[in-house]
Amino acid sequence: MQIEDGKENSMVTVGVLGIQGAVKEHLEKLRLIPNVEAITVKTHQELNKVQGIIIPGGESTAIGKLLKEFSLMEPLKQRIEQGLPVWGTCAGMILLAKEICKEPTGHLEVMNIAVKRNAYGSQLNSFSTTKIIEEILENPIPLVFIRAPYVERFWGEARVIAEVEGNIVACRENNMLATSFHPELTEDLSFHRYFVERMILGKE
Ligand code: GLN
Repeated sequence: MQIEDGKENSMVTVGVLGIQGAVKEHLEKLRLIPNVEAITVKTHQELNKVQGIIIPGGESTAIGKLLKEFSLMEPLKQRIEQGLPVWGTCAGMILLAKEICKEPTGHLEVMNIAVKRNAYGSQLNSFSTTKIIEEILENPIPLVFIRAPYVERFWGEARVIAEVEGNIVACRENNMLATSFHPELTEDLSFHRYFVERMILGKE
């Protein structure tokens, strides 16, 4: 892993893929966590600086297309396959999935999940709820869904972290986390803490 020269060991650099979507909101949340330097990632050089990366919500088709245009698709895929901790929220979940329902190919195709886009249909386009997610926190966490996908199937080392009304809305597979919902749009910091402390720093 490449870490910027002269960086204190106690600081951790976390990137937010900054080509489209809810980038600022994730950066603001990360900056509330002590010893985190949060940076926008738009170039290969910036990608090389980070010890973990968030792929934000937005429009997965647009982000996928721009990843290619920015020549970031292959380098990002490679770093994830080499173990870079990654968390995809909403469109980010779709970007990580190996399979997308009714679409011939995926984007990064790194995570053993098959997802359905806009899975809640037009009636329930956006909604919010609260839920205890044991892996993350013992208290209920607010969950905001916006034209959200859910996970239809998972296999290999992927495992379920949260379900809402029988639908899988969060999965983890080794260095990868995918959530259908948007913790960056709520007051809750527990998912960002989980990503930094457990997945990047490896604290139990
Ligand atoms: N519906 C979007 C997509 O398919 C995802 C929505 C979101 O990220 N909030 O990419």
